[in-house]
Amino acid sequence: MVQALLERLRSAGAKPAHERRALSNALAGRPLDARRARGDAAFPRGLELALPAAQRALESLATIESAHPGLDGSERLLVRLADGRSVETVRLPSLSLCASTQVGCAVGCTFCMTGREGLARNLAADEILAQVMLARRRGPVKRVVFMGMGEPAHNLAAVLAAVDALVEWGGLGRKDLVISSVGDRRLFARLAEHPVKPALALSLHTLDAARRRELLPRAPAIDPEELVELAQEQARASGIPTQVQWTLLAGVNDGDDELARIERVLAGRWAVLNFIPWNAVDGVAYERPSAERLRAIGTRLGAAGVFVKFRRSAGQDVDGACGQLRARRAVC
Ligand code: SF4
Repeated sequence: MVQALLERLRSAGAKPAHERRALSNALAGRPLDARRARGDAAFPRGLELALPAAQRALESLATIESAHPGLDGSERLLVRLADGRSVETVRLPSLSLCASTQVGCAVGCTFCMTGREGLARNLAADEILAQVMLARRRGPVKRVVFMGMGEPAHNLAAVLAAVDALVEWGGLGRKDLVISSVGDRRLFARLAEHPVKPALALSLHTLDAARRRELLPRAPAIDPEELVELAQEQARASGIPTQVQWTLLAGVNDGDDELARIERVLAGRWAVLNFIPWNAVDGVAYERPSAERLRAIGTRLGAAGVFVKFRRSAGQDVDGACGQLRARRAVC
């Protein structure tokens, strides 16, 4: 979207102010030539003439195939790409957008619907941005979390290009952009040198290395404690505390052994531990911990100095919650 659009605009005589206006409009979901302020000057004639073709190219990136509103105000969108493949993106009541970065995912987490289908292909930066454009036509988006289908570290160049575009023209701050990852040395190295530093959510799920290999079979083989250290370095560099994500599976990673490790590794850290109590997925035999167990976990870890939050996964009634996304119209 961004690079191709810029080239089109420039070849039609656009000046930097015209580029800014057109790109801001595109990422806001408005027509390229929309005027927002009285002072917005008309585009030069040559540029006006080039805009319909540019708009058509933008619209051809992705379309909404179906929309599935949830009772809690969330909305799961099935987004069809130009090659006929589909991804899902979820508008959340918090005005966040949970965007996909790949069609499918290679990590294969045993508790995730996306992971069961394997990886079909990476999304281009434009296809990631198109999800924001389409979502903003349906309501405001104040934050983008790259937590939908896919592992962002496996498609990092496109994800960082999307991050840069959203900061430059999409009206979002870097702290409003959250890259979620199972943890990968290449990711930490790239984030360390990238000038725009978004927030990081580390999908940890367990501090037991052997258990992690079972739950996240194709995640890089890095010891979970080392991952926490790497994420903390990134937090210091970005000035944004680490979000640690932990899908809570009854009898698997909600035991006292895990709580003891969490106390040892995460107490007093500049990190928020986001527990995501398991969301039911057809054909997967995990169970959600009881409300009593969730309360006990929160009480124990809070007393130990771990900053814990329980994420009420939005969109559960429309299969738009964490771990439930997939390309419903099959990956061709
Ligand atoms: S939880 Fe994330 S990393 Fe794991 S399979 Fe699903 S999409 Fe991939």
